[in-house]
Amino acid sequence: MAQTAAKRAAELRQEINSHNHRYYVLDDPVVSDSEYDRLLQELRGLESEHPELLTPDSPTQRVGGAPAEGFTQVEHSAPMLSLANAFNREDLENWLRRTKALVDDEEFDLVCELKIDGLAVNLTYENGVFIQGATRGDGTVGEDVTQNLRTIKTIPLSLLEDAPDRLEVRGEVYLPIPEFRRMNEELAAKGEQLYMNPRNTGAGSVRNLNPKVTASRNMEIWVYSLTGAGAPPPVDGHWEALEWLKSLGFRINPHNRICRTIEEVIDFYDYWVEARHDLPYEADGVVVKVSSLALQDALGVVGREPRWAIAYKFPAEQAVTRLLEIGINVGRTGSLNPYAVLEPVVVSGATVRNASLHNEEDIHRKDIRLGDWVTIERAGDVIPHVIGPVLDRRTGDEKIFRMPSECPVCGTAIVKPEDEAMHRCPNTSCPAQFFELLKHFVSKGATDIDGLGERWCQVLIDQGLVTDLAGLYTLQKDDLLQLERMGDKLATRIMANIEASKQKPLPRLLFALGIIHVGSEVAELLTQAYNSIDEIAAATEEELAEIPGIGPKIAASIASYFQVKANKSVIEKLRAAGVSMKQEPRQTSAEGLPLAGKTFVVTGTLNGFSRSEAESRIKDLGGKITSSVTRKTDYLVVGESPGSKLAAAQRLETEILDEEAFVKLLDNPSLEAGETSG
Ligand code: NAD
Repeated sequence: MAQTAAKRAAELRQEINSHNHRYYVLDDPVVSDSEYDRLLQELRGLESEHPELLTPDSPTQRVGGAPAEGFTQVEHSAPMLSLANAFNREDLENWLRRTKALVDDEEFDLVCELKIDGLAVNLTYENGVFIQGATRGDGTVGEDVTQNLRTIKTIPLSLLEDAPDRLEVRGEVYLPIPEFRRMNEELAAKGEQLYMNPRNTGAGSVRNLNPKVTASRNMEIWVYSLTGAGAPPPVDGHWEALEWLKSLGFRINPHNRICRTIEEVIDFYDYWVEARHDLPYEADGVVVKVSSLALQDALGVVGREPRWAIAYKFPAEQAVTRLLEIGINVGRTGSLNPYAVLEPVVVSGATVRNASLHNEEDIHRKDIRLGDWVTIERAGDVIPHVIGPVLDRRTGDEKIFRMPSECPVCGTAIVKPEDEAMHRCPNTSCPAQFFELLKHFVSKGATDIDGLGERWCQVLIDQGLVTDLAGLYTLQKDDLLQLERMGDKLATRIMANIEASKQKPLPRLLFALGIIHVGSEVAELLTQAYNSIDEIAAATEEELAEIPGIGPKIAASIASYFQVKANKSVIEKLRAAGVSMKQEPRQTSAEGLPLAGKTFVVTGTLNGFSRSEAESRIKDLGGKITSSVTRKTDYLVVGESPGSKLAAAQRLETEILDEEAFVKLLDNPSLEAGETSG
């Protein structure tokens, strides 16, 4: 018995250590958090039944993972700990009972906070100025990520009120869900593989050696504690400490609640079990903390967990159902995306029929077979995914899945590039690919043919009215009018928008063509180097790779696009239909241009332009772009959620242009620039 327990404990230690490495060091887990939690609980169970099995290096005794190479290491002034978990009400009540007993039944308040699923950081301020930011690492030594954290707009670089000489706070840095979606939409537009979830994408963005990566993702922070380091705080409770931190300029979660009874804690938890789905960030539980700082001290720490707090985890949203079939969805760039067709099952209120299966490799690694009973999970923002088979329920009739060798839609032989996990259909006129491409071509950031939504794209293809992109431009209003449920008003609007789409700026057209890896940013870069589709098509792979920001992979993809006969023919047809394929040559010298000599910084999100579009419009008019606001900056162009650059511009009294003023300046640059310089 002890023999098998020892063997199982060793297996679990090894497996958990490997998951820890993937999660904490590589930011790339291969199992869900609830699966991980189950393994850890099993190990804890074994160790408490057989204390002789508990080794000092057991993952139950350690926090996080070792700091990654490449970062300077930071020793924490007070350890950054983990939290004990409660998975049900009974766990919570037991914790509260134990805690009360430890403080001789003294009464205390509890603070309930959302447990934000991000990356823990420690921020150090000296004389009110942010001087260092570190990750948790192994709890004792973390990674110095100061430069990266400086780019996060909600981390104050200097504090508002008279702050103590030295102050350390802790908080959770996270990638907001809308930002995560935006990043994935961009990847989808480029035909690249999507990020898995906000937590690991966010952690990877902060634990990156290049601060530009963090800066390009609009990360945020919630600060959730003051640490013991430095002078004693002017308060005696955690709740008051949070209020005080707020007054210093830290971002404190507005949903925190002080509770006097366990019923209030449970109410808070019950509310957020449901309401968490409406938050723009992920929360995986509620952290319950004893508020009194004196009692926190008295309770202390056991192993890797403080005794004065507990994480009451939200239930994983899982269910078990039958995998009926594996369907294949052909993406815009021809990628074959397998998905599970499930016997419908209700998971936390929603009926799930399909779930994602990533790729063939993943299906085999998890040993998922056709006909299996499988566990599926709905986690946060990501679409439901299959965790794995329920092996006990196998009958032997299950079948191993093989990717088809031919495209399920057009029958072309499938290719699988060596360095990619995805199989692809190489036929660019495959109807499935074409549907995705047409949707992309008419979309807002591309040619913006408003009125021609997804459904109409499908109808036009099904009716054989549009068989390639150029087919849009030979459509007649009568063709549209014969379609069921198409009215005169909509047909007129679509025709007008098709006509208008012929004159879209070159980068828009280039993006619209749907060349793999060419998102809107790359399209801008290309049109800064070349003035027409023909010039780009004539460029060699080597020449393209010389453009700053365009690497060999993108260059190869662009060059090969223009070699495909079908693509060349579409471009010729678009040209014949009157689609504009070039732009006015950009002047290389700013001399004589209306914004020559003016320096601009662009910040925040603009509605009518992407960042690079706005910047290239300024450059076209002779203006110069820099990345930070200094005394030399003439204008700060400000979109939504601008952050610290706006404060800097206000301090330096730089002229600030909101989007409306910016558009005015673009329309009439000589006047505005003349006025301000005069
Ligand atoms: P934990 O669950 O023990 O909790 C401690 C952490 O909670 C803190 O470091 C802090 O980052 C965070 N936190 C968020 N909001 C907070 C708040 N309001 N107050 C205090 N702390 C707050 O964290 P852990 O030790 O990193 O534990 C493991 C977590 O990571 C679990 O959710 C586990 O499932 C997951 N994990 C998953 C894998 C995997 O392979 N899927 C591997 C390792 C860990």
